[in-house]
Amino acid sequence: MIDRCGREIDYLRISITDRCNLRCVYCMPEGGVRALAHEDVLTYEEIVRVVRLMAGMGIRHIRITGGEPMARLGCLDLAEKIHAVPGIHSLSMTTNALLLRGRVNRAQEAGIDALNISLDTVDPDVYARMTRGGDVRTVLEVIDQAVQRGMGVKVNAVPVRGMNDGGLVRLAELARERPVCVRFIELMPVGCGADLSPVPTQEVEAKMERAFGALSPDDSVHGYGPARYVRPAGFAGSIGFISPMSHEFCGACNRVRLTADGYLKLCLNHTAGLDLRAMLRGGADDARLAGEIRAAIENKPARHGFMEEIGDREVRRMNEIGG
Ligand code: SAM
Ligand code: SF4
Repeated sequence: MIDRCGREIDYLRISITDRCNLRCVYCMPEGGVRALAHEDVLTYEEIVRVVRLMAGMGIRHIRITGGEPMARLGCLDLAEKIHAVPGIHSLSMTTNALLLRGRVNRAQEAGIDALNISLDTVDPDVYARMTRGGDVRTVLEVIDQAVQRGMGVKVNAVPVRGMNDGGLVRLAELARERPVCVRFIELMPVGCGADLSPVPTQEVEAKMERAFGALSPDDSVHGYGPARYVRPAGFAGSIGFISPMSHEFCGACNRVRLTADGYLKLCLNHTAGLDLRAMLRGGADDARLAGEIRAAIENKPARHGFMEEIGDREVRRMNEIGG
């Protein structure tokens, strides 16, 4: 599918739940949020129907996300069904990894070829504080299991001033011995992120250069997103930077999102989209659904506009959108 800006949209990120076993400071309030009622969340059958339909329209890459996707019962069975849809070339998952302990094999068997694992620090105390209760050793264990099994692994970290900014070099060290990408993602002013202070990419990059010397660009293919990669000398893996705030990447955007409650979201920061759940449950046939999806994607907003006043700014939290 090509939108009115000429961008080819071939990537769908599906949030399968808004619930989570953690409460990361930039994502969820400590006391949690009122979760969606079960009947408001798309069923697995509904999700697979949307995937089948959109695969027929050119979607090739699917990412399962959340909330914490592994917190929804049967997540890996859903993965297996999505993987079996003709036209889907790759299936990945974004996860905090805790509930993947002992289930990495099963995830791979279900057809998940790559994991994006959220990890902001390797310091056990800082991790426990930022996630409000997580155990970093489990995450490190899952990373090593996935690497051993030959899965693609990206570690996603959000540098937050005064929290994990002192441990970013140690975190990047994970990529020295392992073929993983450690990616630093600028904090976005969405949900609880609006109350915290970001560390701009430029500053993180300067830290990496001081620690590891000159950073040569690593142009080998690493996925379908807007990250820029470098590889310090002697590293098995690489370091990536995703800078939605300081370097807008909307011109190359290739994705749309499906929220847990079935809203086809066209851009991270805009509410514009399509209430697919209402259509699915209202008896719309495939032809009507496809027509509406095509028309919506055609009108995908040109830019996220984080830094400006926009009329339809998103108010959902990241755990509802899926990141
Ligand atoms: N629970 C899974 C996880 O943490 O990987 C998947 C969902 S989580 C919402 C997806 C990603 O969004 C995580 O990597 C998290 O770090 C990121 N995220 C959440 N809030 C953010 C914010 N305000 N700014 C930037 N990234 C954020
Ligand atoms: Fe949960 Fe992921 Fe949000 Fe952390 S970032 S609270 S793990 S959904």
